Amino acid sequence: MAAAHRTQVCVVGGGPAGLTLALELARRSVAVTVVEQSARFDRSFRGESISPDSVWLLDRMGLLDKVRDQTLETHHMEIMENGRTVLSADFAAFDQPSPYPMELPQPPLLTALTEEASALPGFKLVRKAAATGLLHDADGRVAGVRCTGPDGPFEVHAALTVGADGRFSKVREMSGLAYEKTPLERDFVWFKVPRPAAWDGHTYRVRIVGDRHGLFIPTVPDLVRVGFNIPKGGLRDMRKEGVRALHARIDELAPEISTGVRDAVTKWSDTSMLDIFTTVVPQWSCPGLALMGDAAHTLTPVLGQGVNHAITDAVVLARLTSEALAHGGTGASPHAALDAATQRFQQEREASVAVARTLQLRQERAFALSGRLSRALRRTVYRTVGSSTRAKGKIFARIYYPLQEAERTRPLDIAPLPVPSGQ
Ligand SMILES: Cc1cc2nc3c(=O)[nH]c(=O)nc-3n(C[C@H](O)[C@H](O)[C@H](O)COP(=O)(O)OP(=O)(O)OC[C@H]3O[C@@H](n4cnc5c(N)ncnc54)[C@H](O)[C@@H]3O)c2cc1C
Repeated sequence: MAAAHRTQVCVVGGGPAGLTLALELARRSVAVTVVEQSARFDRSFRGESISPDSVWLLDRMGLLDKVRDQTLETHHMEIMENGRTVLSADFAAFDQPSPYPMELPQPPLLTALTEEASALPGFKLVRKAAATGLLHDADGRVAGVRCTGPDGPFEVHAALTVGADGRFSKVREMSGLAYEKTPLERDFVWFKVPRPAAWDGHTYRVRIVGDRHGLFIPTVPDLVRVGFNIPKGGLRDMRKEGVRALHARIDELAPEISTGVRDAVTKWSDTSMLDIFTTVVPQWSCPGLALMGDAAHTLTPVLGQGVNHAITDAVVLARLTSEALAHGGTGASPHAALDAATQRFQQEREASVAVARTLQLRQERAFALSGRLSRALRRTVYRTVGSSTRAKGKIFARIYYPLQEAERTRPLDIAPLPVPSGQ
């Protein structure tokens, strides 16, 4: 018989969503077990640019100081088309507590979340363990997960099971919750090169030539993270041309780094590919189960929104879940309270996710324009927005600062930080 373990909340997936949720729950004295299939956090390229709102959230959670030496603030954004600047933005101009986006690789973030949570009673992280099935009670309600781990199969029984297992979520699949996956017209190739001396370390550069574009993002330590678009499913054809096809693409977009790219990227295996798609899940929960982060809403890489919404989901779901569990403890049905909480979670979060998705898709369409007229229109739009402080303020307030804006009138309820021992 499989070993069994009981907890209040079982989280499948120890990415930014799952681990932030677990920390916030443990800080609210909720017992939580995270099941994570990988042994280490040494993932690269994924979720490294984070939006100013998540910088602000991590600061409020007392985590930013723990990772600060592995971060880089972005102070400036510059979009160039055919060698000319069409839009630039200075983030210092935005009157917000945390105005700057940040480069924060996932390994230090996930390590800091785990270290913080591990100091709290009730938190458990089971690594090298994959969720393989859902458990149901006699009423058909999800009651936990079946897993395989290094010591064989085991079960985690929980009042609430959370699928935080990313863009290819197995929990979503197993739950039967409907979803719609929409592939975008492009995929993205990523790699890192040393930062050229001529480039400062705080400018996020977007370069566009026709329907080709690249992102050039300074990151730690003294590197530039480079991403460029290829047609959907086009990697195989490009690889056939050898790595010189990649070099030629960079020569076209950013000749300043041509030499560095030839030194750093000598074979295609030095790169990483992101298959870009969005996923819309009309209903994020069913009795006993909720989806969050990429599992509930896969976004595109534009403007660092994936990690941002994963972390925001976690803060909101932790508050609602802990309130529901406390409410259940006073005599009312914990199940009814939890189901109401998971529905409320979607109500509180989906509008903001939809705004990010809409802005991203608009930008994706702008990147993909290839006709002469449509490209001229794109340039005009960028220049018009770029020359208007008001227009820039409005756009960035919607994508980068909605939480900090909301905080002015409706403070966000984050779990209280633990009191240092000896006080
Ligand atoms: C190449 C690339 C570049 C990106 N760049 C950015 C960026 O710059 N900024 C940004 O904001 N976003 C970016 N994203 C998106 C970002 O990585 C995600 O939005 C973010 O990581 C979502 O967090 P999550 O916790 O929901 O999911 P994930 O980070 O995907 O975490 C899911 C976790 O679940 C685990 N898991 C999966 N299945 C199981 C299972 N059956 N059992 C147990 N564990 C399981 C996985 O191992 C993983 O640790 C990028 C993504 C990619 C792929």
